[in-house]
Amino acid sequence: MACGHTVLMRLVASAYAVAQKAGMIVRRVIAEGDLGIVEKTCATDLQTKADRLVQMSICSSLARKFPKLTIIGEELVVWVDPLDGTKEYTEGLLDNVTVLIGIAYEGKAIAGVINQPYYNYQAGPDAVLGRTIWGVLGLGAFGFQLKEVPAGKHIITTTRSHSNQLVMDCVTAMNPDDVLRVGGAGNKIIQLIEGKASAYVFASPGCKKWDTCAPEVILHAVGGKLTDIHGNALQYNKEVKHMNSAGVLATLRNYDYYASRVPQSVKNALVP
Ligand code: AMP
Ligand code: MG
Ligand code: MG
Repeated sequence: MACGHTVLMRLVASAYAVAQKAGMIVRRVIAEGDLGIVEKTCATDLQTKADRLVQMSICSSLARKFPKLTIIGEELVVWVDPLDGTKEYTEGLLDNVTVLIGIAYEGKAIAGVINQPYYNYQAGPDAVLGRTIWGVLGLGAFGFQLKEVPAGKHIITTTRSHSNQLVMDCVTAMNPDDVLRVGGAGNKIIQLIEGKASAYVFASPGCKKWDTCAPEVILHAVGGKLTDIHGNALQYNKEVKHMNSAGVLATLRNYDYYASRVPQSVKNALVP
């Protein structure tokens, strides 16, 4: 890695701390009872007071600690999703929610932090609420127990609130033993690394670079693979289009099995 290990590790450490603070804000907004929900483009594309407060908190903290980030940003780019799984957050599906901070160097996702503010929220009064998972390519990923789905089982995780015919066609083509419909890109990658799902399949535009950057690093750091539905690596340079127009295909193991089953009709419908 040529971007300077010291800067990168300082940035990861700061991202870890600001993601934990972000998790507290996400919990505080719920506790205060007023989510301040705003529709962005439609009823399934929402923003809450937590999205807004966390965005401000993360950006101002990182800007304060790294005043030169925009200069370094010629090559080093930070992709922030202040609250991933907003729709589910507004519906009380709290463990679907994550805060995502991804770091890319020369267009490649290289480090990431995921805070899950409500991890353990149904686990009883003695359980510690919330956790932070982090990873750096070549170093590994930490803050969770790596687990695989039993061999031969095909459990697909996909969108809960942004489905359509293409998404369903692609999931069906995987010949799944089970389909999990949950919110959040971060949450779905956590399902992959904890052995709850074998593939994240989303054959639709809608997911953005800030949804995939940090989760992709965590998955890649433990030997998994995340691409678009055609098998192309995602790019994270500053000028790149934000939308992942050709969807997402991610697995911890057996990537080729799932990639080989994406129907040609689905590929034809999703232009990179
Ligand atoms: P989901 O799996 O539906 O939770 O989507 C993962 C991420 O992509 C979330 O941040 C969603 O907000 C975003 N996303 C996916 N599809 C759409 C869409 N059609 N419109 C807006 N955001 C979307
Ligand atoms: Mg998101
Ligand atoms: Mg979001």
